[in-house]
Amino acid sequence: MELEQLTKITDEELKGAQYFHGHKCPAMPQGLRAGHLAMDLLGVERARGGGELRAIVEIGDHHFSGCFADGVQYATGCTFGKGNITKNPLGKFAVTLIDTKTGRAVRVTAKYERMKQCLDMPFFEQRKQGIPPFKLDPEVVEPLIEDVIRRDWKEMFDVTTFEQYPIEKQGESFNAVQCSECKEMVVTEYARELDGKLYCQTCFGAHVNRRG
Ligand SMILES: [Zn+2]
Ligand SMILES: [Zn+2]
Repeated sequence: MELEQLTKITDEELKGAQYFHGHKCPAMPQGLRAGHLAMDLLGVERARGGGELRAIVEIGDHHFSGCFADGVQYATGCTFGKGNITKNPLGKFAVTLIDTKTGRAVRVTAKYERMKQCLDMPFFEQRKQGIPPFKLDPEVVEPLIEDVIRRDWKEMFDVTTFEQYPIEKQGESFNAVQCSECKEMVVTEYARELDGKLYCQTCFGAHVNRRG
């Protein structure tokens, strides 16, 4: 796909995403780009409900550029609350976006050379010293963001397409019960039964432990 046909990230979207994310950094906009690229290649709209799209991000926990996943969420509308994004924690900078209607999917991954180049920049030198991203000099951060937003995607990402990606269809549950112990509401599918009473998993676990 040529650059002209791709969705451009507007200043408005970037601002909104930065507000959602909490600070300015280059990894979150990279997620925005990856998310839009995947949507453009699949020819799909941003997810409104939890069923149209599914995203799988491969970032792990507590490592650089994990912010990538927030850009993906903001761009694609695949969010934690809607349950249409999952994390396959491989410590990689990739997202697979699946169109559940057609079964087609695209995996977008950041190129090694590109990520290596970023890691050697002053931004990451300062981050390695423990300086949080929101305390960094804007003159260091802003040009990086600008670059991520404007650069030809082919220099940044590799893309794999799948004609039939294996997915299970998932319904949405509207059933809930009250836990016999803590009296909180718990979605029925997550409740556990013990001696004819229903419990949330926290209270169920405590009961089982007490019985030794
Ligand atoms: Zn960030
Ligand atoms: Zn409970």
